[in-house]
Amino acid sequence: MLERRDGKKTILVAGGAGFVGSHLCDTLLAAGHRVIAVDSFLTSSRVNVQPLENHPDFQLIEHDICGALDIETPIDQIYNLACPASPPQYRADPMHTMMTSVVGTANLLALAEKHGASFLQASTSEVYGDPEQHPQREDYWGHVNCTGPRACYDEGKRAAEAMCFDMLRLGRVDARIVRIFNTYGPRMQPNDGRIISNLVVQALRHQPLTIYGNGEQTRSFCFVSDLVRGLIALMTVDPNPGVPVNIGNPGEFTILELADMVLSMTPTRSQIVHRPLPKDDPQRRRPDISRAKELLGWEPTVPLSEGLAEMIDYFARTLSERPSTAPRRAKTPAEAARLALELGA
Ligand code: NAD
Ligand code: UDP
Repeated sequence: MLERRDGKKTILVAGGAGFVGSHLCDTLLAAGHRVIAVDSFLTSSRVNVQPLENHPDFQLIEHDICGALDIETPIDQIYNLACPASPPQYRADPMHTMMTSVVGTANLLALAEKHGASFLQASTSEVYGDPEQHPQREDYWGHVNCTGPRACYDEGKRAAEAMCFDMLRLGRVDARIVRIFNTYGPRMQPNDGRIISNLVVQALRHQPLTIYGNGEQTRSFCFVSDLVRGLIALMTVDPNPGVPVNIGNPGEFTILELADMVLSMTPTRSQIVHRPLPKDDPQRRRPDISRAKELLGWEPTVPLSEGLAEMIDYFARTLSERPSTAPRRAKTPAEAARLALELGA
């Protein structure tokens, strides 16, 4: 990895205006680096990075990574976080989701190769599909329905992993893979569609808490500050581990347990309602994080009760003051779906 003369690194964060990406940009800038955020604002809002826009070391480029990106400024590291992550959002325009992971990742790998930059690909626990092994270790090859409605995301991320490992084996890019398990925190959009933001927003609005299926399915929830620490640890560990690394919180909860926690922590009149379980929804999920502990010395520190309290506080403050960020007129199917969600259709 190249060291700049003044000790600073120049770091490109694709998806830098998103929920995780904006926290990563904050942390990298606070550590004294230059940050170039690249984002199409497909599933995020400029509001997330507005406080950074006057920072002398921050640059924002509006760009869809499905198109080639050429940057002349020398770049030391590239984090690829650009991809819709919420199931209703990635299913809204499945072809574009797949292209984002395949063509978009190929474009960013080409940029990394040109600059000799280290590359960290945000992969996902979804590469394990509806897992038959529990908890999920990195050597499990997964159980993904390649023709189902989640395939645009799961198979796209699997293809991106394949490309990264090929570029690594060929000695062309110092590529690293993180498999992120369900992560939550401030700056998720209220209409994101994922479970924690949905439940907290519904409870604060006294709306029914929507539980898909019987609510016995499980997830393991990681707070965003823990994830960001893990991303940076994997990007900077020397030598490159050359294997994918799970980053997640092994605390496992049923969706009903989560809903009960939200109900007990908010002054709400909401009640639980059940809705149909989406097709191929994984029944259980929990990371085995032994590899992250051993290779990175990483483990999560924020328990769900603490992170949830922060989420409730965040949405309580922002729901009343934040203007709608929905585009007025949808230009793409994904935007149309987002607008429909925002309008409660
Ligand atoms: P997010 O939707 O908030 O952020 C994704 C960002 O990427 C958004 O700013 C969006 O506008 C941008 N984007 C999407 N497609 C793009 C494209 N083609 N070109 C340029 N920008 C594009 O989601 P997030 O939760 O912050 O997720 C960040 C990354 O982490 C994603 O790659 C996601 O797959 C991965 N991940 C997240 C989780 C999680 O629980 N948060 C779990 C597993 C993996
Ligand atoms: N879920 C739910 N109600 C919601 C949103 C999600 O019951 O309003 C369920 C969903 O079916 C899944 C779990 O919560 O079983 C986690 O969903 P999320 O979309 O957050 O992430 P996933 O892990 O499925 O990608």
